Order: sequence, then structure tokens, then C-alpha cells
Amino acid sequence: LFAGLDDFKLVNDALGYAAADELLRAVGERFGSLLSAMDTLARVGSDEYAFLLGDPTHDPRGFADRVLDSMRTAFVIAGRPIQLGVSLGLAAADGDDRATDATALIARADVAMGAAKRAGKNRLSAHDPSMSLPGADHFHLRERVSRAVADRQICLHYQPIVDSRTGRLHGLEALARWTDNDGIVTPPTRFLPVVEALGLQWELGEHLLELAVMQVAQWSRLRGDSSLHVGVNLFPAQLADPRLPTLVDQLLSRYDVAPRQLVLEITEGAMLADVEAAVDVARRLDRAGVLLSLDDFGVGYSSLRHLQGFPLSSLKIDKGFIETLGRPKSDQFVEALIRMCHDLGHRVVAEGVEEASQLARLQEFGCDFVQGYLLGRPQPPPDIDVTALAVVGVPTR
Ligand code: C2E
Ligand code: CA
Ligand code: CA
Repeated sequence: LFAGLDDFKLVNDALGYAAADELLRAVGERFGSLLSAMDTLARVGSDEYAFLLGDPTHDPRGFADRVLDSMRTAFVIAGRPIQLGVSLGLAAADGDDRATDATALIARADVAMGAAKRAGKNRLSAHDPSMSLPGADHFHLRERVSRAVADRQICLHYQPIVDSRTGRLHGLEALARWTDNDGIVTPPTRFLPVVEALGLQWELGEHLLELAVMQVAQWSRLRGDSSLHVGVNLFPAQLADPRLPTLVDQLLSRYDVAPRQLVLEITEGAMLADVEAAVDVARRLDRAGVLLSLDDFGVGYSSLRHLQGFPLSSLKIDKGFIETLGRPKSDQFVEALIRMCHDLGHRVVAEGVEEASQLARLQEFGCDFVQGYLLGRPQPPPDIDVTALAVVGVPTR
């Protein structure tokens, strides 16, 4: 029996991570109180649990009803009553529609839970053969991803960030890439959420941070200077982790990289997930001389309020705004955004620059740095020439 909490993300956003964690524990306890001696309960995802009902005389539908009933009483977290629904998916290891191994069993229960959510949530749905079986489905993906992280199969490609005034290479953003042993390429937008659901952010994040620091050290030796920046994307959980400044410090000294060569790209979500912890970590990093950049600026809903307390050196304007450059309203907006960032003392990077006309406008508006397919796609390190003085396509002014 696969159980997925309904709309947990909303609760998470409203309560903050610490209280949400407490809620998850309370749900686990409540579910646990329903078990008999032969049953097993596991938390298998951020807001997902799985029951293995081991007693063959148990009626699984009756059990599912008890799980649904158990959620009728509100949870009390930090003095506030929280009402939660749960969607349940049932799959069987015997009978006509039986799954032959554990993986298939869980995958089917997961698929059935998806059906319960689509049918209106807070209900049970039992697997039936007509529910399309997910081939390389997301459950299978979990196994592959956890192996990829353990085997260090996930690596980094780098995309140039160019000084829009001089056309020189300012730095490179490290972007996670994964090709598995069978040559299957899975995009980061697909595997990174799975990494988070599996709780492997710290493990993968540490590995990628080391790769990036090692790489910029090598490039700096090649160039004979230490002016090149490397941008590393952080998971929200990393920014709230008090171990981060220590890890960064160790890596920088191990590879002899100057702190200001490292730019940690954080999102608004990361700032908000656990504001107090994030501010604390950010200030420690800032004191150590590491730069922080706010990614996807403009797409969040409360950026401005939280910009104040964070020691940010630059803001990256989301590519959504760059896409629409050329329309009068949009031009005005981007120009004002850049001016505001400058007034607040931040430098500005424009992301997703694909066309020369966009670049020209951004130069006109005084945008400091540009990044996008026009300047270069993300590439593996051997394909990148960091000693080239200027990047083709940027008129030097
Ligand atoms: P992001 O940090 O906003 O990264 C920029 C994304 O835009 C990258 O997608 C990049 O390949 C893409 N891009 C760059 N130039 C252009 C352009 O001119 N046009 C268009 N349409 N797209 C462009 P990618 O590599 O698929 O990464 C997606 C997201 O996944 C990233 O968005 C970031 O949030 C996350 N991510 C990637 N690598 C890492 C990582 O190492 N750690 C963490 N925590 N997140 C990562
Ligand atoms: Ca980024
Ligand atoms: Ca971005």
C-alpha cells in the first residue's frame, strides 16, 4: 500500500521545513500505530510512505480504510491544527494481477496512488492491469539515480558567463549532467528532483562542489591567474546546512582556489526553506569571501522582501525575461530591473541570451554579464578554451 500525502508542498511552504519535518514524523507515528506484527512501514519519498502488509489474512482494503480514517483527526504542529489528506495505491503480490518482485510491486502501488490523486485525492485506488505500467517510470528512476550518485556518475558541464562590456570570459556555470552506463541521458530537471526526494542532496552536492573547485583550479593554472569564476548551483538543503561553510573552506584550501573565484548560485526557494539557517550559512560564506548569486531572479514571488538580509553579490535575471526582450513593456521592465539591482549594489547576469538583438539591448541597459546559447552552450571541460581572450559574438566596446 503506497501512501502519498496530499498537497504536502503547500504545507511545507506554509510551515517551513522544521515544522514540516515534525509533521512527517507525526504522520509516520500515526501510520505506525496501525501496523500488526507482520507489517512493515517505510518512508520512501519526501511525502510518501509504503506499507508492506505481511499478514495474508489481513484485508488490505479494510486496512486502507483505517489509514484514511486515521487522517481525519488533525495533527497539531507548533500549536496549529493541520488537516492532511492521503492518497493510497494498492498492489498485490498474489491473485491474477500479481507483481512478481518487490520493485514491480512498489511501482504498481505507486502508479495506483497516482490514479487515486487524479481521481480527487484522499482515497484508495487499487492497481489494475489497465493502468499503464511505467517502463522506465519514476520508481525505476529512483533506483538508477541513487546508484548514479553512489557511483559518482553525475558530472559537470560548464557554460561561459561573459562580461558584456569587454566580451571576455568572466566565469563558467557548472551544470550537472548524467549519462548512465547504457548511454541513457537524463536531464537535470528530471533527475535532480529525484536526488532531493531521496535525500541525497548533500552527497551529490559535495561531490559536484569538489569537481567544480578542482576544475577551476586547473583552469587557473592554465591561465596563470586566479580571475576566473566558477558558478555552482546549490540545493536548498545545502544552503541551510551548517556544514557547508566548513566544506567550502576545506575544498578551497585543498585545491588552492581563492574564495572569490567560487560563486554559489542559490534560489529564492533555498533562501526561504529555512530562512534563519540559510542567512547564517550565507553570512559565514560571505565572511569567508565566497560570492553568492541569486538565481532565477524575478520568477519567485517574494524576492524583494528577502533580498535585504542576504549578502548577495549578483542576481541572475531569469531567461523568461530575456526571451521577451524586444517588446517595449518588457524592455522597460528589464532595464528597470537592472537599474534597481545596481542601485542595491548587486551585479547583474542575464541568462538565456540566444540572440544578438537581446545581447545588444542588455549591453545598452548596462547589464554586467551575459550567459546563454549565443555565447556558448554547456560543454564538458575538455571542449572549453579558457585562455581565449574574447568570446566571438560580443562586440568589444
Ligand atoms: P539554472 O541554474 O537556471 O541553469 C540554467 C539552465 O538554462 C541550464 O539548464 C542551461 O543549460 C540552460 N540554458 C543556458 N543557456 C540557455 C539558453 O540560451 N537558452 C535556453 N533555453 N536555456 C539555456 P540545465 O542544465 O538543464 O539545468 C536546469 C536546472 O537544473 C538549473 O537551472 C538548475 O536549477 C538545476 N541544476 C543544474 N545543475 C545543477 C547542479 O549541479 N546542482 C543543483 N543543485 N542544481 C543544478
Ligand atoms: Ca544556475
Ligand atoms: Ca537560472
